[in-house]
Amino acid sequence: MINTVLGPISGDDLGVTLMHEHIVVNIIGADSGERSYTIEEVLEYVLPYLIEAKDKGCQTIVEATPLGLGRDLEVLVECSKKSGLNIVTCTGAWDGSDVKGLSVPDAIKKITIDEIANVWTKEFEEGIDETGIKPGYIKLALGDEGKIFPLQEKLLRAAARTSKKTGMRIQCHIYTSASVPSAIKIIEEEKLPYDRFIWVHADGQMDMEKILEFGKKGIWLQFDGIGVVKEFTKYPPTIGKLVEENLIPQLLFGQDSGSFWIKEEEEEWPMRPYARFFNEFVPYCIKEGVEKELINKVITENSRRALSLK
Ligand SMILES: [Zn+2]
Repeated sequence: MINTVLGPISGDDLGVTLMHEHIVVNIIGADSGERSYTIEEVLEYVLPYLIEAKDKGCQTIVEATPLGLGRDLEVLVECSKKSGLNIVTCTGAWDGSDVKGLSVPDAIKKITIDEIANVWTKEFEEGIDETGIKPGYIKLALGDEGKIFPLQEKLLRAAARTSKKTGMRIQCHIYTSASVPSAIKIIEEEKLPYDRFIWVHADGQMDMEKILEFGKKGIWLQFDGIGVVKEFTKYPPTIGKLVEENLIPQLLFGQDSGSFWIKEEEEEWPMRPYARFFNEFVPYCIKEGVEKELINKVITENSRRALSLK
């Protein structure tokens, strides 16, 4: 069973699944108060893009926005109902970039590691707040400044303990690959199996040395900047290398696409269409010699295994 915002579904019903997309992102801070937009506004902006992705064959979107960064379950429910896409939401916390805790709610900062793990486990067991909606995975973001700060270490340990209690995997945003060894060391100290850990943005710096080193230990490698990059040139050779090293079963795809952005100042932030994967990335990879079957396996079988609870 996999938890979606409309309830649990069987793994057979996931189908083509993109592992990292956004619908609403709020970067003005976790404790910034009330919603500053209406659900209708978001739907009007985002829904045509979701429907386009559905028409191109996408069946499930893993929404990568935890509490504090804009997770909005009412919006996700409406988007899922109106687009026909399954949408998977998350528990966890985001401290990526150089925001220094801005996106982590005070209520989480103040409590201990085990208390955080209890909060996240309760979301899994009983649903988030009073909605009954359960998360499908744990989302974290850390290490973007080349090291792991104490708050980030606390969140990572809490995520590991939540994973051990619930079976949910951790999707951990680490853009700066220099931070990956320390993250993995923490995971090892927490005695979490490697395959519970998904390195989100492994394609950010495309640090092949670390991709291979930690891939061989058994972590998942998520290439999810596909909606962000100008060109896809780095992907086919890297995928070829993963084929040689038998690491394709640990590869995941996503785009970091979307979204409806809430910012302090009015700034233009163009939508990154969810269908780009199908319209541009797949044809490009096939032209460059990547087998279509391989791509299909990654977005169906691999995504399904990465979302299964074990
Ligand atoms: Zn993201």
